[in-house]
Amino acid sequence: MVLIVDDEVSNIEIMNAALEDDYEICFATSGEEAIAVAQTSLPDLILLDVLMPGTDGYEVCRRCKADPLIADVPIIFTTGLGDEESEANGLLLGAIDYIVKPIHPAIVRARVHNHIELKRMRDQLAELAVTDALTGLSNRRRLEQTLDVETARLSRTDDWLSVIMIDIDFFKQFNDAYGHPEGDNCIVMIAAALQRAVRRASDLTARYGGEEFACVLPATDHEAAMIVANSIMEQVRSLGIPHRNSGVSPYVTVSVGIASARCRPGMPRDLWVKFADNQLYLAKVAGRNKITGTVFGIDEGGAPDHRHGQTHRQHAIR
Ligand code: GH3
Ligand code: MG
Ligand code: MG
Repeated sequence: MVLIVDDEVSNIEIMNAALEDDYEICFATSGEEAIAVAQTSLPDLILLDVLMPGTDGYEVCRRCKADPLIADVPIIFTTGLGDEESEANGLLLGAIDYIVKPIHPAIVRARVHNHIELKRMRDQLAELAVTDALTGLSNRRRLEQTLDVETARLSRTDDWLSVIMIDIDFFKQFNDAYGHPEGDNCIVMIAAALQRAVRRASDLTARYGGEEFACVLPATDHEAAMIVANSIMEQVRSLGIPHRNSGVSPYVTVSVGIASARCRPGMPRDLWVKFADNQLYLAKVAGRNKITGTVFGIDEGGAPDHRHGQTHRQHAIR
């Protein structure tokens, strides 16, 4: 969808005629309306008039770039000014291009097409940069981004956040027994099992490293995270991947560590991963193919409350 912003309806009509065969179009005839429409319809590109009464195009551009929701939407300025200073001004504000009126339909069409195509490619690259190539899960970078966003968001309401860390048991022996390609295959199957167990739209499942995974569960307390962890064990069990060199089962198993806390302002995102990793270690020590979890808090000074951390609950299955 392309948003066309101009206080002169005749200009909108010309640009609409140039684009309507190829794109959905929406309009605004003032700066304020433009911002409102951009925020609600999230267009792929904005054609933005500079000179408008009230909120002008520069101001619209500035406010769009300041709103994370629409900051990435490419903006092309359209203006009759044509002088270099205003062109430079617009580009400095983050506009991607500049079209001088009078409008030539073929030029509008070509520039809009090129910039939408470039945006699509940028989005694809950005997506690849946070995706794990083997499993298609999120990678550690997206996990960290998500933890940043969620800890900030949830701390406004003191809401719960749980993180689950999962590690395949005796995986070195699996590779030794069946070969590295089968090992890769096993990692892919475990990743799919995790996705079947972790289902809420706001949940994130990531490959943390080699044969280790992590799940971020926003607005999820410890009891609920424990249910997810049990479902993970169940899904992995039902894969029934043979493992002749496992020390714990004839099939591939995982160990699971859970950390849950209410989010408070300023709590570092690393705490959840650190505590969950610690729990994972305890699950390994306790014999593997197990779930352990902890609820932690922070003391008055904002440091992790270790007393609380040590009163972890262990949940073993089988
Ligand atoms: P534990 O039960 O304590 O977790 O033992 P483990 O053997 O699973 O753990 P360890 O950390 O000793 O070994 C992990 C192994 O995972 C070693 C490494 O070769 C293998 N691995 C890591 N990443 C990959 C991968 O992408 N593909 C394959 N096939 N193997 C991997
Ligand atoms: Mg392992
Ligand atoms: Mg490991």
